[in-house]
Amino acid sequence: MFSVISRFTLLISLAFIGGYIALSFLGPSAAIASAICVLSIPLIYSYINLARLRKFTVADSVETMPLPSGYWEEILFRLQRLVRNLKLQIRSIEKQHARFIEAFQASPNGIVMLDDQDQIEWCNGIAERFFGLNFKRDALQRVNFLIRRPEFIQYLYKRQFEEPLLLERMGKGANLSLMLQAFPFGDNRHLMLIQDITDLQKADAMRRDFVANVSHEMRTPITVLMGFLETMQSLELDKSQQNQYFEMMMSQAQRMKTLVEDLLTLANLESNTLPAPMQVISIPTLMALLRNDAEALSQGHHVFNFEVSSPSNLMGEEREILSAFGNLVSNAIRYSPDTASISANWRLNQDREGEFSVTDTGPGIASEHLSRLTERFYRVDRSRSRDTGGTGLGLAIVKHIANRHQAQLIIESTPGKGSTFILRFPKERIAD
Ligand code: ADP
Repeated sequence: MFSVISRFTLLISLAFIGGYIALSFLGPSAAIASAICVLSIPLIYSYINLARLRKFTVADSVETMPLPSGYWEEILFRLQRLVRNLKLQIRSIEKQHARFIEAFQASPNGIVMLDDQDQIEWCNGIAERFFGLNFKRDALQRVNFLIRRPEFIQYLYKRQFEEPLLLERMGKGANLSLMLQAFPFGDNRHLMLIQDITDLQKADAMRRDFVANVSHEMRTPITVLMGFLETMQSLELDKSQQNQYFEMMMSQAQRMKTLVEDLLTLANLESNTLPAPMQVISIPTLMALLRNDAEALSQGHHVFNFEVSSPSNLMGEEREILSAFGNLVSNAIRYSPDTASISANWRLNQDREGEFSVTDTGPGIASEHLSRLTERFYRVDRSRSRDTGGTGLGLAIVKHIANRHQAQLIIESTPGKGSTFILRFPKERIAD
């Protein structure tokens, strides 16, 4: 490839030779014209290449332009390499950026990036949902104009970002509790992280309620027990009176024992997140046991009808199944008046799911209570529950056992007519 100087020397030599030949044969004007013609060749060539380069540049495809010859070849070759490298770099930066955005979007927490003027530079979908923002609409708007809660504006104004800020009643339904914290980065920018702590707060409230409920449930029998003890200490009682007091004390102690046992059962079930084992449970044997217990509890006051409509057995944890089925039968007895009839049935439905149902002709339950019956200590009729030795934990235990067996607890009830409690087990738990 010729260097620029050799090209220039060649061109001048050609112009000179052409001019000299024209001067010799045609005179001085022809010599000048011939020299100009020779000198304009590279100009015309450059102009043509410039025009082509412009065309490819406008179409953003310089790298596809065919290489011309001469010194333009090298210029264009280098230009094309530069453009190609730059495009590759831009593509890789764009990919990285897209990955960051994807990662931030996948975060379960809200993320808002603020510039040094507290204007929104970027925010993810979760933050949009939390604060009713729309990034396309709200980009570069001051965040305090968009999140108008006074405690947030104060937080932003004070700039004491070491502590998080709790925002309650947020979101569309004003039912979210959010924990927000701003973290400084870069040149006076801030990253705001927002965590939805609604469930945590609910769990916390439930834990507090639970402790309060347990204390309340324990306090009554303890107070009664202490009353009896004080009476026995201060009064001279004859043997039969003493026995009567002991009996009453025994019943209070029994009540506490039942409560503690139910609490332990519940704690064990809650800590065990594994599915129940697949032991084959003989339904006829189980039904016979349930019937015996039911008759002992009822003491002849109710009419029973226990039926096994399918020969298929159930696979699960026998002790737990007995406890869940027993709880439903005992509830039917405890909440139904004397002479009411109670039926328990085991069958397979048309989808080959196993169904254990207990139907009573008791008082029934109003529909507004149905969804809450499995909450710990939830009772429709508090005094009836206590009088019959209920702890308010029975259906919570049944629900947990059902979950461990992938079963559903279905409650159907008509006030004044009676209730049916069904435990429906998936066909995978049926042993043929
Ligand atoms: P408890 O120990 O109070 O019986 P459960 O968790 O077993 O607690 O039941 C919760 C509440 O559901 C009971 O207090 C009672 O009001 C209601 N309930 C349960 N089973 C029946 C039923 N068969 N008939 C009417 N009410 C029922």
